[in-house]
Amino acid sequence: MGLIGKSRAARKRRGPFAELAWGRGGRYNAGEAARKPVEILHYPHPILRKKGAIIREITPEVADRAREMLELMYEAKGVGLAAPQVGWSVQLCVMNPAPEDPSREIVCVNPVITDTEGEEVADEGCLSFPDVRGNISRFLKLTCRWYDLQGRRTEAVAEGLLARMFQHEIDHLNGRLIIDRMTPASRLSVRGRLKDLERECRAPSRSPVR
Ligand SMILES: [Zn+2]
Repeated sequence: MGLIGKSRAARKRRGPFAELAWGRGGRYNAGEAARKPVEILHYPHPILRKKGAIIREITPEVADRAREMLELMYEAKGVGLAAPQVGWSVQLCVMNPAPEDPSREIVCVNPVITDTEGEEVADEGCLSFPDVRGNISRFLKLTCRWYDLQGRRTEAVAEGLLARMFQHEIDHLNGRLIIDRMTPASRLSVRGRLKDLERECRAPSRSPVR
């Protein structure tokens, strides 16, 4: 689904709004291009395991980056994308359960699940895990609170697929991935593919023997 991500550890951020800065690892070019999320990072990129920082101020830059994430999500034929997946370690995710309808776009800043109900096991995939799918148990219904890009506090009750999307994306913001939640049988069935992804990740950074 996504493009190939290569593993380069994100370097330490600097400055007062450092938590809002894009990753400056090898996936971003210097200067203007550094702002563009050029691709979706793949497992086992280490930034996917980091808890994202709380966003303290919704600047125009935050809004621009959320827009770029939505574009990238549509391009990858996904329904949700979390900031850490583009190397941005903050509490922000974008979703659209009906990608053909832009009016259903959701941008969540600092989202928190406040109430849950029921449980359901269903098949799930992730843009950071190309060709990996597995069964995952999720809450069937939930209440989520977040800030929108205008800084308004928002609350919604979600069910079914949308509830699953909230849980999946909020997991990303806390460094949790689908492989942590898969049923033992699914986990076993994707083991070989995970090894492939780990190999793909190591290969590009291997330096020639001198
Ligand atoms: Zn995901």
